Amino acid sequence: MGQVGWGVMNRKMILSKSALHEGFENEYSESNVGIHEFVHLIDKSDGAVDGLPEVILQKQYVIPWLKMIHQEIGKIKKNHSDIYPYGSFSEAEFFSVVAEYFFKQPKHFEKKHPELFWMMDKMFHCQHQ
Ligand SMILES: [Zn+2]
Repeated sequence: MGQVGWGVMNRKMILSKSALHEGFENEYSESNVGIHEFVHLIDKSDGAVDGLPEVILQKQYVIPWLKMIHQEIGKIKKNHSDIYPYGSFSEAEFFSVVAEYFFKQPKHFEKKHPELFWMMDKMFHCQHQ
C-alpha cells in the first residue's frame, strides 16, 4: 500500500493512490496509509526508522516512550490491545500504526491509551477540537 524509500528513493515515499484516498475517506477506520508512511518519514529524519523520532521526541521522553511501546506491544501480542496487530511488528511500525490511530480517532485513542496519547500529543503538538 505504501513504503518509504531507501537509496535513490531516500526521503521519498510511494503510496497507492486508492489506499491514500481510502484512508481519508473512511473516518471511522483507524488506518490511514498516508499518515502511516509520513510518520515513517518523520521517524527516518534522524537517520533511523526505529520508532524514536528524535526530531520531535525530547530526550527525557525516550526511555518512557520505549517502555510504553514495549508494554503495549506485549498487550497486542496477548490480544489485550485494540491497536492494530501490525504495530507489534517493531517499534517503528508501532509508532506509525499508533500515529494513524492518534490522528484518525483522537478522542477514542485518548480514552483507551491516555499515556500514549499524552506522549504523541507532546510529539506532534496537536490541538484537537
Ligand atoms: Zn510501516
